[in-house]
Amino acid sequence: MSYTIAITGRPNVGKSTFFNRLLEQRKAIVDDVSGVTRDRQYGVAEWIGKSFNVIDTGGFVAHSDDVFEREIRKQVHIAIEEANAIIFMVDVTTGITNLDQEMAELLRKSPKPVYLVVNKVDNHARMLEASEFYSLGFKNIFFVSSISGTGTGELLDEVCAAI
Ligand code: GDP
Ligand code: MG
Repeated sequence: MSYTIAITGRPNVGKSTFFNRLLEQRKAIVDDVSGVTRDRQYGVAEWIGKSFNVIDTGGFVAHSDDVFEREIRKQVHIAIEEANAIIFMVDVTTGITNLDQEMAELLRKSPKPVYLVVNKVDNHARMLEASEFYSLGFKNIFFVSSISGTGTGELLDEVCAAI
């Protein structure tokens, strides 16, 4: 049986950085400019002797809020259709945005398990700030730094326990 995790979240939260970390190779394109990852990417990750597929549902080119809205719906739809579980990634440095709220609303209806992953928690001060994300109402919440790798082990342990 193959198990698939989809990484969703608005542009620039760090989805591709996290995806690359899971794959330990530079597969997705990471850039400061929104929407650089143009399509979804697939890879295989391994953790404690288990392997699973990972989808970076990728970015989209953001021209307007309408495009954002439509693309977010598409991204969530892909994730729910193709994956067994969903990572919903948010960014502690921006706090909760309107797009995060919209995605949260869609993902709360997901029949698949959702892991809320607060990214860019690079230091202790950011860990304190990150507690605001509890208000999004997901019980599976993790705090990670995709750049340093802090916190990713705990998340992967939890993900792999379900495989
Ligand atoms: P995506 O649009 O969600 O795929 O986001 P990217 O992976 O392209 O990352 C967007 C920006 O956030 C890049 O400049 C990354 O280097 C940066 N970034 C990603 N993860 C972290 C992190 O854990 N800490 C910090 N400080 N920056 C990060
Ligand atoms: Mg990306």
